[in-house]
Amino acid sequence: MCVSDSNRRDFFRTATAAGITVAGAQALGAGAAHAGERTAAAGDRVALTRVRVFDGNRITAPRTVVVDNGRIGTVALGARRIDCQGAVLLPGLIDAHLHLRDVATLRQLVASGVTTALDMACFPPSAADALRGLPGLTDIRSAGTPAVAPGSPQSQLPGFPQDAVLTGPEQAHDFVRARVAEGSDYIKVVIEESGPAPETVQAVTAAARSLGKAVMAHATSTATVERALAAGVGMIHHVPLDRPLSPALAERYAATLTVAVPTLTMMEGFAGLGIPGMDYAAAEGSVAALRRAGARVLAGTDANLTPGIPVQPPFGHSMHHELELLVRAGLTAREALRAATSLPAQSFGLRDRGAVRPGYRADLLLVGGDPLADITATRDVLRVWVGGIEHVPAA
Ligand SMILES: [Zn+2]
Repeated sequence: MCVSDSNRRDFFRTATAAGITVAGAQALGAGAAHAGERTAAAGDRVALTRVRVFDGNRITAPRTVVVDNGRIGTVALGARRIDCQGAVLLPGLIDAHLHLRDVATLRQLVASGVTTALDMACFPPSAADALRGLPGLTDIRSAGTPAVAPGSPQSQLPGFPQDAVLTGPEQAHDFVRARVAEGSDYIKVVIEESGPAPETVQAVTAAARSLGKAVMAHATSTATVERALAAGVGMIHHVPLDRPLSPALAERYAATLTVAVPTLTMMEGFAGLGIPGMDYAAAEGSVAALRRAGARVLAGTDANLTPGIPVQPPFGHSMHHELELLVRAGLTAREALRAATSLPAQSFGLRDRGAVRPGYRADLLLVGGDPLADITATRDVLRVWVGGIEHVPAA
């Protein structure tokens, strides 16, 4: 049975359901397929023919894209061919806010086409380190342990490192140095109304900058967003649930090139808990204000399995929901796709991904339907490649 012989659109799934192994499949160690999934190795050369490509702007006419030894290649000669029959190829999706857990959650991400996962708090450091660089699995970056205020819910989690509980600015430098030594890719600070104080957030930001690390701030209210903006952090995660960002605040994001990761999926979940003062309309209105102001908005879900967190978006699936919520909040489908591909790649300095371009990592998502016409088409996952290793999701 050869994939290229098929002219049924559902072949990609039925082949897997019937237990047919995609040509070239082999054992892949930690990244190996589990039940209901088939993978093919990175080493071979594959030509995806008759594939329409989201080029960051539009969807192209059918063409050939070559996957060559883990990268996007240019030479189709001698390649195994996969006839994509006009299906649409997207760069692999990048979730700009989640909390890493284990290999099983990386597999869930792959199955949904999320090929890069940007963790926003995970400890101890060995937990993230165990998930780095696994062949065929979602590529990760991690904040490690975030800075929090005394008395915060995070500070009371079992095993939370006490050097990350900041009582004043004098601790900021040691906190940042410790995270850098542990391998944190960027620095996270959780800003609540109760703390850390503005001067501490500023000290963390300055210390991180001096060591070449970007700063991510958690802020879910107007007051904490103002504290984050005043400190000059690089990214603000979540959006206010108390009231929509004012045009003036949204314009400060744009003017200072502060990136927003609204995590609408999480905001929707929290607003749904019925807690007074938490209104999803505020979150949606904030995204609309950011868009109008020209601020950069990234897709992030806050997928987690953290004990005690009342809202736990599922890994992978929630990315498609986030795209839909961003569109409902006013982004065009094109803007939402960019928010999950090229823009997070740029914002996090990931120069080898976010586009279907020769030389880039072969992180790819093949979908049925036209996601520019209907963003829900991203849910129709036909195949995924992570670093050139092919996955055919289970039916
Ligand atoms: Zn989070």
